[in-house]
Amino acid sequence: MPEATFHFPHDFRWGVATAAHQVEGNNANNDWWAWEQQPGHIAQGDTSGLACTWWEDAEADFARAAALGTNALRLSVEWSRVEPQPGTFDEGALGRYVEMVEALRQRGIEPMVTLHHFTNPRWLAEQGGWEQPETVDRFARFVERVVEALGPTCDLWCTINEPNVYAYQGYLAGAWPPGASEWGTAMTVMRHLLLGHAAAYRAIHEVQPEARVGFAHNMQIFDPARPRSPLDRFVTSIIDRAYNQAILSSLKRGLWTPPLGFGLALKLRGTLDWIGLNYYTRELVAFDRTRSEALFSRRLHGDDAEMLDGGYGELYPQGMMRCLERLAQLDLPIYITENGIPDDDDDQRPRHLLTHLHQLWHAIQRCYPVMGYYHWTLVDNFEWAEGWTLRFGLIALDPETQVRTPRRSAFLYATIIRANAITPQAIDAYAPELRPELLPGPDG
Ligand code: BGC
Repeated sequence: MPEATFHFPHDFRWGVATAAHQVEGNNANNDWWAWEQQPGHIAQGDTSGLACTWWEDAEADFARAAALGTNALRLSVEWSRVEPQPGTFDEGALGRYVEMVEALRQRGIEPMVTLHHFTNPRWLAEQGGWEQPETVDRFARFVERVVEALGPTCDLWCTINEPNVYAYQGYLAGAWPPGASEWGTAMTVMRHLLLGHAAAYRAIHEVQPEARVGFAHNMQIFDPARPRSPLDRFVTSIIDRAYNQAILSSLKRGLWTPPLGFGLALKLRGTLDWIGLNYYTRELVAFDRTRSEALFSRRLHGDDAEMLDGGYGELYPQGMMRCLERLAQLDLPIYITENGIPDDDDDQRPRHLLTHLHQLWHAIQRCYPVMGYYHWTLVDNFEWAEGWTLRFGLIALDPETQVRTPRRSAFLYATIIRANAITPQAIDAYAPELRPELLPGPDG
């Protein structure tokens, strides 16, 4: 029997994704920079520092992305650079972003621009950030300026990155700025982020009617630790609803879905031209009556799970398909706006890449409208509270010297892109343990 080759559609978008604060360097005017300077917040006392020096020379990495054959790149605009004081816009900063998106186009790479990726200008944070309803309109005003400037070069916009992760890390886990831990505030922040998305959607379409606007939703698979336990199943469904489903249902129905809120949310309706999936991992959930602060749950991993670096989670490619099954019900174009793993020695990434893309291939066979895949990420970058301890890059970076060294996975990604397919030769060369017939199917 011939060995299978898994072909992708001819117009498929092969991309890489990143975010301003993680790569630009010297982003000294936002809440994250301030947070990094306080001891105990970031692993090893790391700071973002020069990051990947994109503010000076993103173009060098764009050339690397082009050399891999990518035709899409997701980057974000840093609000604190563009609007350093409330209502004061920095034309020089906007000009630099115009330069960047033009540099991408010149290399045959389509830009996707994210307008909020976790960081806020300091002045906004000082006024209560996304806890305050006024932030919604302030965000829309900033977005309008960005779209006016970048619109001639870019029409693919991602309003907000991962409202659930932002609210969870900053307002429940207390691990990110502002370091809070208060359920009610976390829900308020998430509602404001969704209203910010809706306001941005309208502001963008006012300036650019043909724009394609969506947001990046982080989805995680939660499975009951003991599948036969009714309590484990119950608590798993509550967590799944709070983390994955409430945001999607609220946007789809125009009704706040508990626990996010109650009542009408009509402004949210019809505000998606596409939906982005950021998929990384799964966790098992067990009922634990002593943990009221965690919705009476404990998170764990199965004995047979293949774990990722730094306890980041489990390698679980089938989760990609399970998320896509749910997103396909929205009947919108889908982009995988992020997917990747921390893997400094690159011993898991080739397998990760092949198995996740194989799931994606299955999804496309089922006619799910998956338009593109943005791997997280091109070059190792500043990984928030984990600092430089987790390495997600196809290309390794020494942040001291700025020396870059491609990992094997970079060559694998280039091979897949060139073939526009997963070939048996690529599997043999990069992850021979995965013979095509052994790549896990969506159900196995
Ligand atoms: C975030 C990225 C982050 C990545 C890896 C995503 O949730 O959007 O900013 O670097 O995960 O942890």
